[in-house]
Amino acid sequence: MRTTRSNTSPAEWERRLGAIAEAVGTDFAASVNRIADATARPDPFRVLVSTLISLRTRDEVTFAASDRLLSRAPTAADLAALPEQTIAELIYPAGFYRTKAGNLRRIAATLVDNRGGAVPDMLEELTALPGVGRKTANLVLGLGFGIPAICVDVHVHRIPNRLGWIATRTPEQSESALMEVLPREYWIPINQLLVGFGQAVCTPQSPWCSRCPLAGECPRVGVTRSR
Ligand code: SF4
Repeated sequence: MRTTRSNTSPAEWERRLGAIAEAVGTDFAASVNRIADATARPDPFRVLVSTLISLRTRDEVTFAASDRLLSRAPTAADLAALPEQTIAELIYPAGFYRTKAGNLRRIAATLVDNRGGAVPDMLEELTALPGVGRKTANLVLGLGFGIPAICVDVHVHRIPNRLGWIATRTPEQSESALMEVLPREYWIPINQLLVGFGQAVCTPQSPWCSRCPLAGECPRVGVTRSR
């Protein structure tokens, strides 16, 4: 694992991420962020549920499925009381909906039994829950609790590597490398920013380099085909 340009100034990060934000536009909001923003105060339970539903699932499906389930079960106690089959029906057609239904019910029961229904605010305790990996845990810490944490999904792993900001092989390495180079104030918003950029401009296959505001400075590491 290698990190590069670690001496990048805060003003330079502001310029880079500002350019990305402009390219993404103000209309974009990832489904989990929309679910998180739907309540007056951040609710870690809503973030946890919608993030679990979002794994390998399109954004529109995630939002609708999360909304259906959370309308029926707004708390861990409500969710623990639902039969697994009902949870599966409510989140269908989310990917792996049966497995997720089982995990969601077990998580809810664990939270009720061990924590009075509250979601933990520690990475280790979150990742001990069924089906919860670092990606999910970090999004819960960031969006649910406001604790600086970098949620590295496929976009957050791919794009900083293409741009040469970091040079890593795995999402775990990317998380550590980004924590070294990226100012803390961007740790929470970087996920939504790069998810939007990864869907609209720096797409997985054949990115739109011709439309990219960072094209003049991007070494396009690993890119073999672009538009
Ligand atoms: S120039 Fe191309 S590869 Fe580099 S960030 Fe922009 S879209 Fe992605």
